[in-house]
Amino acid sequence: MIQLYIPLNFLGVIYREIKQSLTDLDKMFTLMDREREVADAPGAQPLAGLAQPTVRFENVEFAYDPARPILKGISFEIPAGKTVAVVGPSGSGKSTLARLLFRFYDIQRGRITMAGQEIREVTQASVRQAIGIVPQDTVLFNDTVAYNIAYGRPGASQAEIEEAARAARIHDFIVVTPKGYATMVGERGLKLSGGEKQRVAIARTLLKNPPVLIFDEATSALDSANERAIQAELQSAARNRTTLLIAHRLSTVVDAHQILVMDAGQIVERGTHSELLALGGRYASMWALQKESPPESPSAPAP
Ligand code: ATP
Repeated sequence: MIQLYIPLNFLGVIYREIKQSLTDLDKMFTLMDREREVADAPGAQPLAGLAQPTVRFENVEFAYDPARPILKGISFEIPAGKTVAVVGPSGSGKSTLARLLFRFYDIQRGRITMAGQEIREVTQASVRQAIGIVPQDTVLFNDTVAYNIAYGRPGASQAEIEEAARAARIHDFIVVTPKGYATMVGERGLKLSGGEKQRVAIARTLLKNPPVLIFDEATSALDSANERAIQAELQSAARNRTTLLIAHRLSTVVDAHQILVMDAGQIVERGTHSELLALGGRYASMWALQKESPPESPSAPAP
């Protein structure tokens, strides 16, 4: 089960269908089967040597539909324990990178490796076990808050759940709800805001303790206090983890080891925040624009 909650966040229509009726786990399995796009290679072994894996994309080309190329030769490396952030206009292919790293789809050309092993050649289960995803919109089950957090690691003790919730700064919010960790959430229970849901996802990820983290920043507007808080939590979750950060707010990426600027399926600029500002190109103008725009419009503006 541990692998299953993560793919749901990426499955579009299926995701919405599941979100409406999450009590039925059998249904979830059926839906997952329907969406299964990739299969283990014969004799595939689990990923090995994951203490601090480097993630590498080498000349990756990918299309959902053969008639429409989406990624056109993407190469970058996330050194072990570092954060690489991806920015760019809507539709440029940022979230596709995350889907490919998680191996929802196989690429048409190039290689994606983790700890030096091509992800197509090892078991999917081991790839997904190694990655924690904090998605834009977290799936919550119609169950207790404790269950929803423990989903990161079934069998976690109450003390471990609370420790993760504290680290994700959602504990204080939970303990003032009517039944604390036993409070029901979801469609028929407590409704959580976007920021609170992301914190639940961070707590799940901290419990799972994966060496690789994908953080798909929420596109929805958060107030600036919430935004700063989530940013702090993200930074602590990313510490010592090989992290791919899909960013919609440039303020989040300032400290990244490297920033990739994508446009129409290509990396058009790359560097640190200060290098890219000095370059005076696409990133620099996005930065200038975003500084002027009000906090209600957090998406990276198209140049
Ligand atoms: P945003 O900032 O809006 O989240 P993005 O840069 O993350 O955008 P992607 O989600 O990676 O963009 O999408 C890149 C392109 O691939 C878009 O043109 C999108 O329409 C297309 N696309 C995404 N998912 C699918 C899919 N499942 N099937 C077909 N096309 C898709």
